[in-house]
Amino acid sequence: MTTFNKQVTKSLLEAISNAVIAATKELTTLDQAIGDGDHGINMERGFRAVLAKADTIAALPPGRAFTEVGKTLVMTVGGASGPLYGKLFMTVGQALGESPQIAHARLVAGCDEAIKVIKALGKSDVGHKTMLDVLVPVLDTLRSASSRQAAGQLSARAKSAADATIPMLAARGRASFLGERSKGHMDPGARSSQLIIATICKWLETAPN
Ligand code: ADP
Ligand code: MG
Repeated sequence: MTTFNKQVTKSLLEAISNAVIAATKELTTLDQAIGDGDHGINMERGFRAVLAKADTIAALPPGRAFTEVGKTLVMTVGGASGPLYGKLFMTVGQALGESPQIAHARLVAGCDEAIKVIKALGKSDVGHKTMLDVLVPVLDTLRSASSRQAAGQLSARAKSAADATIPMLAARGRASFLGERSKGHMDPGARSSQLIIATICKWLETAPN
């Protein structure tokens, strides 16, 4: 199990932030199709703020680091996704506590709680064509997959789940205003969730044991 220290935590924060920043254009394009075109810049702003504080945040145990990432996203991202992603990281962070290691059971419990919080905050559920359509199936896979070898499985599940939002009819967020015209496009928040999950899984391959 990875024991987090400042260097390890910083490498994870940088991996996630750089992946989101590199996808700014793609996320913008997705949100232009079924939203208002700001998801890319919203997320970029948030993760640039995380990068700017990476040294300070990485000095904390991973749970508290996640909580700080969440607070930073709430303050900087804006849009519907800001409070939702913010709460996601904060809730997972709180469940992880002060330990320098991430116990599988705590991670599952934290993700489970975070999904409940997002559902309550967004009045949303699976099938509404949102980030939940990636987060919920990935959590189901995570429950039964505890080892590092499962990273590939989680990444693949995230990808198929994001792809599965393409034909969906949006029932929440700005995309829902489009009705039938929301079909045929991937949900931007589903894509950013998938990207973050895939990046964490890829990072795990090179993380210290
Ligand atoms: P905004 O919609 O305010 O412009 P963003 O473009 O940053 O905010 O984020 C849009 C994404 O947020 C959507 O693609 C969707 O995944 C997610 N989202 C929007 N509303 C909800 C909701 N009620 N519940 C869950 N996720 C939502
Ligand atoms: Mg938008």
